[in-house]
Amino acid sequence: MTLNNQKILITGGAGFIGSHLADHLLSLNCSVIVLDNLEAFYDPAIKRRNIAHNLDNPNYQFIEGDILDMDTLMGLDDDITAIVHLAAKAGVRPSIANPVAYQESNVKGTQNMLEMARAKGITQFVFASSSSVYGINPDVPWKESNYVLQPISPYASTKVSGELLGHVYSHLYDIRFIGLRFFTVYGPRQRPDLAIHKFARKILAGEEIPVFGDGTTRRDYTFVADIVQGITAAIQYDKSQYEVVNVGNCDTVSLSDMISTIEQVFGIEAKINRLPMQPGDVPQTFADVSKAGELFGYKPSTSFKKGIEAFHQWITAEQVVEA
Ligand code: NAD
Repeated sequence: MTLNNQKILITGGAGFIGSHLADHLLSLNCSVIVLDNLEAFYDPAIKRRNIAHNLDNPNYQFIEGDILDMDTLMGLDDDITAIVHLAAKAGVRPSIANPVAYQESNVKGTQNMLEMARAKGITQFVFASSSSVYGINPDVPWKESNYVLQPISPYASTKVSGELLGHVYSHLYDIRFIGLRFFTVYGPRQRPDLAIHKFARKILAGEEIPVFGDGTTRRDYTFVADIVQGITAAIQYDKSQYEVVNVGNCDTVSLSDMISTIEQVFGIEAKINRLPMQPGDVPQTFADVSKAGELFGYKPSTSFKKGIEAFHQWITAEQVVEA
């Protein structure tokens, strides 16, 4: 399937990953519809800024609306060719404080999207799953064939549920469902609740950074342009009806090395406030990305240092805008 003449619906398209995906698809001459309720998990003004540069583009349509509202979904265009479903309540720790809201948005919301796809005959559905589905599996790097029915946070369980619902709809209704398990995504416009962004702001302000654990936890940080490459390939994938696929970097960085890379790139020493590990946090994430390579030629190309340099450039420019 090529991208020519496609009309792609991105739910959650005003957020971090979705706004980059919209930019990329527009650059490839696709039509893009973004549906996002601009929820207040973080400042909606940030989301408005993420999309502002596209609002005058005739190939771009922004709809402020909720995936929990079936009337809104059924009112969307009938000639949408693919759905990239990114809208969700994100974040592991807040899901422990508010599990029912996560269930609503992430599970019922995903089912609504699948129902809408079924009703409108939209047969390509890409879903944002997460590395958190692997729980605390010590057997790294994680492969898609690993057992994932032991998540350790409400958020992770909603992502497992999304993958399961996708299988049902793919089996019953011929909807091609590609669940992409993203591994800690970072880069310009990164969500302000995520560690790299939070640390960067505090370091720039000369404040202490809260560091949970002894610094040995490891994350497979994946630069947002690499994630966008994976999503774009999944939109075009047509060889099978149901797949779950890791989209990571296949390289892990310890928390201590993450902080020292920020220090090095920003040229500022961090003040560290060491705190105990948080419930729901996993000790490590590590993607085997060979399946994504085989299925759709996915190949992450941004080193952590290069990615942090791009993030540094963005956040220093942002601070000028905010000042
Ligand atoms: P984000 O919060 O920046 O984007 C999500 C967007 O969804 C937001 O703009 C929000 O307003 C919107 N949204 C939330 N609930 C909605 C609803 N009910 N109706 C309509 N819109 C709604 O998050 P992100 O980091 O860009 O993540 C995008 C997706 O990728 C999410 O599904 C997330 O769980 C998944 N993911 C992200 C990461 C990461 O490291 N950022 C890792 C794994 C998976």
